[in-house]
Amino acid sequence: MAHQPRAPIVATNAITEVADGVRVIPDADHTPMVPNIGIVVGPRAVLVIDTGFGPDNARAVLEQARRLGDRRPVFLTHTHCHPEHGFGANVVAGEVTVLYNDAQWSELQQKGPVILRMFRKQMPALPPLLDGVEFVRPHLGYTGSLNLDLGGGHVVEFREFGGGHSLGDQGILVRGSASVLFTGDLVEEGTFGVLGDSDSHTVPWIDRLKRLEQLEPELVVPGHGHVGGPERIADYRAYLELARRHVDELRAAGELSEAEIADRVSAEVLDLHPDWKNQIWARKAVEDLTWPARA
Ligand SMILES: [Zn+2]
Repeated sequence: MAHQPRAPIVATNAITEVADGVRVIPDADHTPMVPNIGIVVGPRAVLVIDTGFGPDNARAVLEQARRLGDRRPVFLTHTHCHPEHGFGANVVAGEVTVLYNDAQWSELQQKGPVILRMFRKQMPALPPLLDGVEFVRPHLGYTGSLNLDLGGGHVVEFREFGGGHSLGDQGILVRGSASVLFTGDLVEEGTFGVLGDSDSHTVPWIDRLKRLEQLEPELVVPGHGHVGGPERIADYRAYLELARRHVDELRAAGELSEAEIADRVSAEVLDLHPDWKNQIWARKAVEDLTWPARA
C-alpha cells in the first residue's frame, strides 16, 4: 500500500499546560504541516498564537480558546505568514482581534495568494483543507515591538525578528510564572530550518537566534516539534554556525570550488544531526553561504 501522509489536523485533545496559564496544542508527533499552537489565558484576555493549516483547524483552535477563556476577548497572532501556521484564520477573524507585525502583513499580502495557488496545484491531498482561505487585514499592527497585558501578570512581548526564516518572523515572549518563548520556525525541534524563498538567509538567521537567546526564556516552544528549554535555540544556532565557520575556513584555504565546499559542509551538517528531518534544507542553509547566494 502506498504511504498515506497524515492529514495536518491539530491535536486539540493533546493540549498541555506548559506554564501557569500557557497552553500548547503540541506537534507531538512531528506531523508535516502541523505547528505548535499557543493559547495564553489571562484574567482580562486570551491570546492565540497560530491556528494551523486551513479553516477547520482555525475553528478548532478558537473553540479551545473560548473554552479556556470563557467570554474574555481573544487576540490572535501568527508567528509568521506560512500556510500551516495561519492560512484559514480569516474564518475566525471576525470574532477576535488579529495582531501582526507590519512586515508580516505585507509579506502575507505579497506571497499568500502565490503560496495558496502553489499548494492547490502541487499537493493534491491538501486543497480541500484550504477551501475558504482568504487574507484579511489585521486589526492591529506594529513595527519593532509591542506589549500586550492579559492581566494577572501575563504580559506578552511581541518582537519582530524578520530576515532569517521569513520577512515577518516574530518572537512572542510570555512573561508570567515562567517566561515562555514562541519562536515560530526560526527554531524547530528535530528538523532542519526551511529557507523557503529568497527572503530566507543563514547569516541573519544566526543573528536572530542570538537575539532570541538574549530574551533568556525558560521554555522554548519551537515552530514544530517538542517544547524544550533554551537549548532548543542553541542547537539551531550550533548547526548554522558550524556551516558558516566551515564554509569560511574552506574558502580561505582556497583549495575547493564553491560547489565542493557546499558538498563538504552539507555532509558535515547532516553528520551532526543524522536523525533530523527535512535534510534537503541542511544543504540549502549551506548553499546560502556560498558566493552566488551571498552576491
Ligand atoms: Zn515557516
